Amino acid sequence: MGFDYPGRVRRLQVSMADRGVDMTLLSVGADLPYFTGYEAMQTERLTVFVVRAEGEPVLFVPELEAPRVKPGEFEVRTWGETDDPVSLASGICGSPSTVAVGDHMWSTFLISFQKEWPHASWLVASELTGGLRMIKDAKEIELLREAAHGVDRVMARIPKEVRFAGRTEREVSRQLIEMTVEEGHDVAEFAIVASGPNGASPHHEPGDREIQDGDLVVCDFGGRWGGYYSDSTRTFSIGEPSAEQVEVHEIVRAANDAGREAVAPGVLCLEIDRAARKVIEEAGYGEFFIHRTGHGIGLEVHEHPYMVEGNHQPIEPGMSFSLEPGIYLPGRFGVRIEDIVACSVAGLDELNQAERGLKLVG
Ligand code: ZN
Ligand code: ZN
Ligand code: ZN
Repeated sequence: MGFDYPGRVRRLQVSMADRGVDMTLLSVGADLPYFTGYEAMQTERLTVFVVRAEGEPVLFVPELEAPRVKPGEFEVRTWGETDDPVSLASGICGSPSTVAVGDHMWSTFLISFQKEWPHASWLVASELTGGLRMIKDAKEIELLREAAHGVDRVMARIPKEVRFAGRTEREVSRQLIEMTVEEGHDVAEFAIVASGPNGASPHHEPGDREIQDGDLVVCDFGGRWGGYYSDSTRTFSIGEPSAEQVEVHEIVRAANDAGREAVAPGVLCLEIDRAARKVIEEAGYGEFFIHRTGHGIGLEVHEHPYMVEGNHQPIEPGMSFSLEPGIYLPGRFGVRIEDIVACSVAGLDELNQAERGLKLVG
């Protein structure tokens, strides 16, 4: 069941050695659970995992949070309310010349560490951890697959169980959140419901707009399953769609297909973006596809690698990411179709299986 945390720490130490990094300090954010299984609380009390070039890593936690830490292959040291955690943690570090710091460490702690080592140079830990976390092992892929299937089951239930017309976006969003948990997620993290003209805003915050007949409604939701995210989008039609709505949906669907067809080991991330974007551009809607084609997914909903122009990262077996082309017509409507896929040695591995056709709902 467990992950190989010591193996992950060893791989981090190898990439630290490659980059001449003496010390990595991880606090809140997904790197810490990736290497320890422990997720730090977002508080003013410092939690920091200290990984030195060699030797056992040490997790410093506030005394009152120590009961949350499951014993692992690392030393745990607690600090009390009158201790100075920065000087305790830096006390085991010597005087490092290059320090990697978790991307989400609060600046209040970072600045304190920087005062301890005024001559050190600094980099964000994702320069080391991004490449490790990008390649999922079989167990991680299975958790992503279970999460994706949980969302697929919600998508399948929507036409029968979710009434849209006459309800607000917020009400529908709440129902999607409940269903995401019912279908096995530990927690539902988000449920974008963007109706009619709001669909033209890709990250619309569900609000008080009452959904009407003739709307397209973009539903983009997901949660966490054993720590790993789902994230999927379907666009629904309230009653009969117009010819234009059907056409735009068909184009986005073809773009989603083109993205999936492009997935293979060795293909560059930018080529996947281009494959999907070309379909939308050739249909004349290029200026209305206003975001990248996809993002990596794992312990974070958005992580490396990004399917975006300019990213020359080759796709490798073990990578998992979204494909989510969309067309957004300001003041009118939007369409997005989003699936999570993985790349295996054989090529495309479709984690989401839900149908992609335009579904009519009431
Ligand atoms: Zn998004
Ligand atoms: Zn999404
Ligand atoms: Zn996404």
